[in-house]
Amino acid sequence: MRSDFTPMRIVVAGGGTAGWMAAAALAYTMGETIDLTLVESDAIGTVGVGEATIPPLVLFNRLIGISEADFMRETQATFKLGIEFENWRCEGEKYFHAFGTTGRDHWSAGFQHFWAEGNERGHSDSYSDYCLELVAAYARKFAHLPKNGLNYAYHLNATAYAAFLRRIAEKAGAKRVEGKIAQVELDGDSGDITALRLEDGQRLEGDLFLDCTGFRALLIEGALHVGYDDWSHYLPCDRAIAVQTELSGPPVPYTRAIAHDAGWQWRIPLQHRGGNGIVYCSRYLSQDAARERLMSTLEGKPISEPRAIPFTAGARRKQWHRNCVAIGLAGGFLEPLESTSIHLIQRAVVRLMRMMPAGQVSERDIAEFNDQQLTDMIQVRDFLILHYNATDRRDSPFWRQCATMDIPDTLRQKIELFRETGRVFRKNEEIFAENSWVQVMLGQGIKPRNHHPIAKKMSDAELSRFLSSLRENITKTVAALPSHEDYVAQFCGSK
Ligand code: FAD
Repeated sequence: MRSDFTPMRIVVAGGGTAGWMAAAALAYTMGETIDLTLVESDAIGTVGVGEATIPPLVLFNRLIGISEADFMRETQATFKLGIEFENWRCEGEKYFHAFGTTGRDHWSAGFQHFWAEGNERGHSDSYSDYCLELVAAYARKFAHLPKNGLNYAYHLNATAYAAFLRRIAEKAGAKRVEGKIAQVELDGDSGDITALRLEDGQRLEGDLFLDCTGFRALLIEGALHVGYDDWSHYLPCDRAIAVQTELSGPPVPYTRAIAHDAGWQWRIPLQHRGGNGIVYCSRYLSQDAARERLMSTLEGKPISEPRAIPFTAGARRKQWHRNCVAIGLAGGFLEPLESTSIHLIQRAVVRLMRMMPAGQVSERDIAEFNDQQLTDMIQVRDFLILHYNATDRRDSPFWRQCATMDIPDTLRQKIELFRETGRVFRKNEEIFAENSWVQVMLGQGIKPRNHHPIAKKMSDAELSRFLSSLRENITKTVAALPSHEDYVAQFCGSK
């Protein structure tokens, strides 16, 4: 490093998943160009949930040099191929949002257009029959396939993941301080944060501060008062209760999201236990009733005390303000229906790395960062609203509210475009691609009235050959896969 270069002093406030993901990635990639200190409080602890992820986490782990087998062992992780949604369109029905692609796209049109043409000509298969990840998930099979042949994410133990990341961060030079932040000191002129004062009197000075203090948002809100956009009129669920259980059978390679009359429940299978929870709207369900519902529907014996977590869907008005960047729950929260929070942390960390200040913080960087972050959150928000709004359920006040609520114009356009033409476009590096939207829209009962005319160009024989070759490939590939349970055990070296 150049001898006249002064490392930027970065202080990370908070050591949950957000704090340690940021610390590990920054320390590992930025080396001696930064001087990083993380402060966390064992007495306060972390939110302790956040166990289902989406595929880009595989890349994040690679970026910071993590061995996948070590990671799987240490976090008791399983592989995840998607999410099964039960009772969302109507009670008794289910559909699957799988990772990866369904069928094969053409440059002009997604696979749904060819599948719809097939349907018109008498092929009765469902769209999901053409998705390898889905067929593998229901067969409870898994293996790493070349060229990302099987797209996957993980179910993981969030506390163990933070501890694992801590080791990587510390090895790469990050310092950890134990203590409670008592005061955030601001510069009288600029309003920038100058230091964090801890209860024991320690003072941590920095140039850049990352607020990873969770829902408390001590820096970005407590000290800088940026404000919060409340989105609960779109996403009315505002409480969760989480509990861990023994496994009731071999872990399946998918998350389950089971709707009930005032929200939904999750089931996340790890290697050694299950993660369970109920998400609900407190206007329609009391905490006692939610707890009773959760505990009475568990599939394994509980091994932890149920823990209630209140939240408000929404986003901090600025994720980066002055010399403070909010990452994780401090920046906002969208319920875990599509397992997006850890991914939003990843996006924020990578974005910050791309916009790392060279000395003075640039207002242009701040504006760009905030714009991109907000776009991410709005896109995820819209995708979540889709699950609630496009439903046939009218069996409770909660569902009647969801089905009839006003939805954002951005989402309305997406739904109506799909309904009229079968088309979905991915804009601004959107997290969820065409296939995700198509699966959820079809699953929630939105049926396109039309499809791309190019599919009509195929003769009956060509179309049949095309569709059946896709299905044959899937059947052959899945038949050759080992069981998910055996593969995890063998991959982690325990068999
Ligand atoms: P926290 O885990 O709360 O960490 C905050 C840190 O700040 C802690 O270290 C704490 O000690 C520290 N701190 C706070 N105040 C002080 C202080 N005064 N002094 C010193 N330190 C302090 N995400 C997913 O991707 N998938 C999921 O399946 C998923 N499920 C979820 C289910 C629920 C019910 C909830 C609420 C969230 C879920 N999430 C999920 C989100 C996920 O849990 C969080 O995004 C993730 O854990 C990051 O949390 P965090 O690090 O921002 O906050």
